[in-house]
Amino acid sequence: MHLADRMQSLGTETAFDVLARARALEAQGRKVVHLEIGEPDFDTPSNIVQAAVTALQQGYTHYGPAAGLPELREAIAQRMATARGVKVDPGRIVVTPGAKPIMFFTILALVNPGDEVIYPDPGFPIYESMVGFVGGVKKPIRLREEREFRMDVAELKELITPRTRLVILNSPHNPTGSVLTRADLEAVAEVTQKTGTLVLADEIYSDLLYDSEHVSLASLPGMLDRMILLDGFSKTYAMTGWRMGYGVMRADLATHVARLMTNSNSCTASFTQVAGIEALRGPQSSVEAMCAEFKKRRDVMVAGLNQIKGFSCRLPKGAFYVFPNVKETGWPSKKLADALLDDAGVAALSGTAFGAFGEGYLRFSVANSIENIEKALDRVGAWTTKNL
Ligand code: PMP
Repeated sequence: MHLADRMQSLGTETAFDVLARARALEAQGRKVVHLEIGEPDFDTPSNIVQAAVTALQQGYTHYGPAAGLPELREAIAQRMATARGVKVDPGRIVVTPGAKPIMFFTILALVNPGDEVIYPDPGFPIYESMVGFVGGVKKPIRLREEREFRMDVAELKELITPRTRLVILNSPHNPTGSVLTRADLEAVAEVTQKTGTLVLADEIYSDLLYDSEHVSLASLPGMLDRMILLDGFSKTYAMTGWRMGYGVMRADLATHVARLMTNSNSCTASFTQVAGIEALRGPQSSVEAMCAEFKKRRDVMVAGLNQIKGFSCRLPKGAFYVFPNVKETGWPSKKLADALLDDAGVAALSGTAFGAFGEGYLRFSVANSIENIEKALDRVGAWTTKNL
């Protein structure tokens, strides 16, 4: 087989590889606590499941418009108004199977070979992967623990050149749980407006905030036409396997992204979109309950990690990950993550799964029960006592 050259530049998401390794150990009879994968461990709320069942029975089993069902796009536009205070025409919205395609499609639509894209490092690995895949130039911006893993906008300013096509932001942030402040976002808006650079704002964790309200870049003056907002249902409504997300962008760009949809998926599954309307318009109590539970788990995890030799962990403000500094262990992150899985039966990710600047850190997801989190803490503690 002769593989196309571009496949060499395609990356991956290590979480799925670690999950496969952990499952292989389990198949040999080992017991593993899973803190590697980024998905809520809750069931999708029953009103949403029921809406999908009814939609299937009512015949939402056919192709729909490439950009999404008009009723869902209307519901998303309403949510933009209530949650972010931003009025948008549904013509700016494209619904996709998961939010990930919004990254892929906007990068495909906007970035030529040789164009530069700035993205957070550590950061969600698919940004870097997609930039490489289209032949773009990778410009990671380092997120530093001293700055609570918030982007330094002065550094951003230095990185932007006339070849910069896109700046990618992610707040609340995977893997560090950092949250950009209003002042940070205002500074980003000022810099990118001055240079005429578009921004992809990944706000998929916007409903999972513990100590503050979400500030959307889209709510800042002049930004709506200068950005692509990415959001979805996977995290907020525990719907990872349903595959449904969306982008909000300029209407002209939305046409091109819809064209990419026509060429790839045709449309997002129709009955899942009907369930999406119920998710947005139905009761929101499950979101609040899930968020409250994540907060409790975060507190247990951070307090526990800070008791472990060689570990120090900041309190993340959003998302459902903790990102402890493990430099004092003297172990490289990847080796430490492998040892914790193989010897202690705790699956976590190396910080380097999120970029080179993730060296010295691990990512644990708190999408698991407090009982399992405590078990993981005991195991990691015992391992460090024995090995450090
Ligand atoms: N952005 C970030 C930062 C994520 O962590 C994820 C999921 N892990 C996504 C986007 C994509 O979510 P989905 O495709 O499941 O909607």
